[in-house]
Amino acid sequence: MSELERKFERLLIDKGVVAAGSGAVVPLHFDAQQSRLRIAAGFVDPAHFTYRNPERAAVVARAFPWSHGYVSVAVSYATTRDAETQVAGYAYNRSYEDLREVLAVAVAYLRESGLRAASLFDSNQAFDKGLARRAGIGLVGRHTMVMVPKAGSRVVLGSIFTERLLSVSVGRRFRSDPCRNCRRCVDACPTGAIRLPGTLVAEHCIASILQQDSWSPVDRQLVGARVYGCDSCIDSCPIGWPSREESAPAPLVRWLTAGDQELLEEVGHWYIPRRDPFYVRRNVANALGNRGSLTRDERRALALLCVRSQTRERIEGLRSLLRVRWGR
Ligand code: SF4
Ligand code: SF4
Repeated sequence: MSELERKFERLLIDKGVVAAGSGAVVPLHFDAQQSRLRIAAGFVDPAHFTYRNPERAAVVARAFPWSHGYVSVAVSYATTRDAETQVAGYAYNRSYEDLREVLAVAVAYLRESGLRAASLFDSNQAFDKGLARRAGIGLVGRHTMVMVPKAGSRVVLGSIFTERLLSVSVGRRFRSDPCRNCRRCVDACPTGAIRLPGTLVAEHCIASILQQDSWSPVDRQLVGARVYGCDSCIDSCPIGWPSREESAPAPLVRWLTAGDQELLEEVGHWYIPRRDPFYVRRNVANALGNRGSLTRDERRALALLCVRSQTRERIEGLRSLLRVRWGR
């Protein structure tokens, strides 16, 4: 291991990276094939994220033709969701901002050392799960997320591409498959979206439904009292326990009453269809309606939403109020 590699590993650890590994930039044919099979089976939305163009996501060299090696990193986040918050831990904790900072520092370090480098995360240009798996930092669990030893799936993944192959290894490696005799996540999924041996049917997954711009009446009920994301399968997984830290509930009333810009400043890191704040308010109003037993402030905020907003928001607010009052 060179001095640069040793210092780079140290830098990653100091910045809070819990797992990192490296590999050569080669086409990820396996991941592209898996994506095509899922599209053909109707398990995913073919217009969404890497499913839009699996071939492009498989060949990272198209984005960075000069790259020969990559380093896959995992940054962990605490699950601070409580019963009231109903926002997934990774979104509530702004974990992608931590990851963005780690990647920026890592890329800057490599560039200062004379290497060409660039990074990607949460991008449809690369299969981040495939890159992490090939780099050996973790396995894909039955819940279809990458999990790493100790932190489990409470990690966000990113990749750093370099013009030469580096040898980097941070964190432990799994010695056996933890999913072999386990099906906790399958049983914990409230909608039955995870099918054995480990396939996710996206149209039944709450995290996916909450990002859609149109909902059926069934969808409205399926998502329950969740506003964004769903942690049930991650919380059930024995890899990564202990799982929860309590935190202040999400400010649902503020999200209902805030102006568009203020709202987007607060939750703009979520995936929101067309960046339209309506969908955030829709999710909040629906979650309150499904939860029932509103506080006075929540009831007022919903009523205010009905009075002041445009027609579709008024409809959402009214729907939620009606559901609470008359169970409709
Ligand atoms: S809950 Fe069990 S089956 Fe599901 S991902 Fe975790 S270890 Fe694997
Ligand atoms: S995120 Fe929620 S709905 Fe989706 S698979 Fe996991 S437990 Fe099921």
